[in-house]
Amino acid sequence: MANIPYKTYLTEAEVPTKWYNVRADMKKKPAPLVNPGTGKPCTAEELEHVFCADLVKQELDDTTPYFDIPTEILDFYRMFRPSPLIRAYFLEKALGTPAKIYYKFEGNNTSGSHKLNSAVAQAYYAKKQGLTGVTTETGAGQWGTALSMACAFFGLDCRVYMVKCSYEQKPFRREVMRTYGGTVTPSPSMTTEVGKKINAEHPGTTGSLGCAISEAVEAAVTTPGYRYVLGSVLNQVLLHQSIIGLEAKAAFDKLGVKPDVIIGCAGGGSNLGGLISPFMGEKLRGEADYRIVAVEPASCPSFTRGTYAYDFCDTGRICPLAKMYTIGADFIPSASHAGGLRFHGMSSTLSELYDQKLMEAISVKQTDVFAAAQQFARTEGILPAPESSHAIRAAIDEALKCKAEGKEETILFGLTGTGYFDMTAYQAFNDGKMGDYIPTDAEIAQALTKLPKLG
Ligand SMILES: *Cc1c(COP(=O)(O)O)cnc(C)c1O
Repeated sequence: MANIPYKTYLTEAEVPTKWYNVRADMKKKPAPLVNPGTGKPCTAEELEHVFCADLVKQELDDTTPYFDIPTEILDFYRMFRPSPLIRAYFLEKALGTPAKIYYKFEGNNTSGSHKLNSAVAQAYYAKKQGLTGVTTETGAGQWGTALSMACAFFGLDCRVYMVKCSYEQKPFRREVMRTYGGTVTPSPSMTTEVGKKINAEHPGTTGSLGCAISEAVEAAVTTPGYRYVLGSVLNQVLLHQSIIGLEAKAAFDKLGVKPDVIIGCAGGGSNLGGLISPFMGEKLRGEADYRIVAVEPASCPSFTRGTYAYDFCDTGRICPLAKMYTIGADFIPSASHAGGLRFHGMSSTLSELYDQKLMEAISVKQTDVFAAAQQFARTEGILPAPESSHAIRAAIDEALKCKAEGKEETILFGLTGTGYFDMTAYQAFNDGKMGDYIPTDAEIAQALTKLPKLG
């Protein structure tokens, strides 16, 4: 191997101790959350009924560039951070590409994904506020697992509404949450008013993230001492996830390398937002330039086929409205879609950056995603999460383009997690039974007819 090591770790002394808030460097800021009742931007007071007070401050702050990471959170991070920046020598060789591929691996913890970076922060602030517990939703299960781990550490109750089809497909994921003390309810359930309503309107539904969010919010606001926490989409989550990009940037600086292209999968936008933050900051300040690419599933294409508008974050329409690229809060991805990244909208911060053409987006088909996952597993050894494999697909395609054009680009992608609980999806792929459902324009247009009308 060449002079660049296979893995680059930061020493404990080099690990970042502040999160970076990319909004501080944006001239045109992301649009604020809006109260659907008043049509006006949400105030801190309104948001504090639902969210923890310190997290509301972070959510609304678009001017402070750096936030000190509290010592308790830094201590928890030591259990699984810093994460390695890996040079994908084996994959490069298999592809025969002149491109240099690096990935930042966030799957080295029991929850198996980057979500623990924000879960521990959110649990810490809830505890600091003297709360009893938190509620949340989980789709594929990584966020619920991460939050259960964080709540166990800080001594908080954790109630998770898990999208019904995942609850049934992933019993072991559920048991990991229960082992860490989380209470898991399949959603839509009959334990909330909004769950009963959704069940009545869509009998037999296997649920969606939007439904589960509505149930978790209702449970939080009707239970004393509880607040709701969310694992993606929100500005505060991107802030916590900036640790990924800050570490990656520090490792590249240590190696004296600068990436040309940065690629990440995009569900609600938290890992991508975190990975690109410090690089985007340089771009916004005019100090450097990078190509930044969001990769989303063709079956849930909010950036590439959505509309930039205010929309509900949840099917039950009880959350604040966010301005984002959306394919409509009523959009429910096909049940055959196995690759995660099922949220109908996208982080407001990333939506604004995309709208300003500071980043690109592409969509990929799930069978192509699993083919990339298989190639990656066989070359680099790690069994990737289907979500992460969207970024792998795009990185491989970029590297093959470099090969065809004889270009020596440096590519960085985010490997957000491992796929041990996704073996049903891998099985479908291995058996040749996986399909590629792509929504029609009419389906998306239909879901978009219900966008809220703002005065
Ligand atoms: C949740 C998750 C994602 C997608 O969420 P973002 O908020 O878009 O980052 C990607 N990869 C893994 C492994 C996940 O668990």
